[in-house]
Amino acid sequence: MNDQTRVEPIRGTRGSNDPGPRNLPVDLQNPDILLPPDTDNGSLPNLKFPFALAHNRLEDGGWAREVTVRDFPASKSMAGVNMRLGPGVVRELHWHKEAEWAYILDGTARLTVVDPDGNVSIDDLTTGDMWLVPAGIPHAIQGMEDGTEFLLVFDDGNFSENETLLITEYLAHTPLSVLAKNFGVSSDHFANIPKSEKYIFRLPVPQPLDVVRGQLPNSPPPHPYVLLASKIEPERYSGGTVKTVDSRVFPMTTLSALIIEIEPGGMREMHWHPDADEWQYYVQGEARMTIFDATNKARTFDYRAGDVGFVPKTLGHYIENTGEDPVRVINVFNSRICSDVSLNQWMALTPPDLIRGHLGLDETVMKALRRTSQPVVR
Ligand code: MN
Ligand code: MN
Repeated sequence: MNDQTRVEPIRGTRGSNDPGPRNLPVDLQNPDILLPPDTDNGSLPNLKFPFALAHNRLEDGGWAREVTVRDFPASKSMAGVNMRLGPGVVRELHWHKEAEWAYILDGTARLTVVDPDGNVSIDDLTTGDMWLVPAGIPHAIQGMEDGTEFLLVFDDGNFSENETLLITEYLAHTPLSVLAKNFGVSSDHFANIPKSEKYIFRLPVPQPLDVVRGQLPNSPPPHPYVLLASKIEPERYSGGTVKTVDSRVFPMTTLSALIIEIEPGGMREMHWHPDADEWQYYVQGEARMTIFDATNKARTFDYRAGDVGFVPKTLGHYIENTGEDPVRVINVFNSRICSDVSLNQWMALTPPDLIRGHLGLDETVMKALRRTSQPVVR
């Protein structure tokens, strides 16, 4: 490393150089932690955790890693999983105590869901598509020809992908005589059931959707558990785009989401969410965020692709693109409807004399307020 790539914790007369030992690559990825803005103050918990630091569970033909409250204590209300399934590879039939929100990051996945009313939902989903599987509803995921990678978000930070209810384990932990009675056959037919979980395992790439659907007694209802969000056009703003996916467009969903793209030099404006925590996954680019809390607390973090961020309910924040490429970030909220308070809109809709009396702003800022009073990326 030459001196030009060496960042030092010095601003003006404050701070001093760091002669080491130091982890320079980590410092370079986190300049706002090594050298925080002067406006940072007080103690806020860590609000960043990279999937690159999460244990990766390698299985036959795929892998899975998770960021839960165990690694990321601030994230009490939501947990995330990043999973890769090669062609044909299956995430075993299972269910869990939490609702599962999903976003396809790469390739094509086949999701199979059966609900208590006997509805069967089988869909092939591509990059940018989503699903919502409610708590207790059984499902499986399979990689198609090109394999798939996806993100899962669960509505409890204590969730673990390693602690789901699995079809193999259910059968393995039921007396053989009960299995025989349940299925109306003799118990020797269960001699070959697995003694332990399969979890992630290889199968051939399944037949086309219409063939598989045709083999089933019921024809599937139209997409109740999935949303082909890749086909939804985002809202365009001066600094980027926002796709809003909540129960207004996806009635099944109990978690809502914003898919945000921020152009270089742009930012997602200063705001907060009155009724939901925000779980973030950075897909592309480099960004920073400052989180503001009472009293006088503020802390700034730097994020890049593969990082998870978290913003507790009601705390102020922005997302600024600090790199040369567009930032793409997914925000997931533990609420059915996306809702935020824009600082600019609040100020623009408050009587100007009241604002002037608080902040001593000049007329240029007061006029700018009226221009920037819509919640946007700018
Ligand atoms: Mn699941
Ligand atoms: Mn937000």
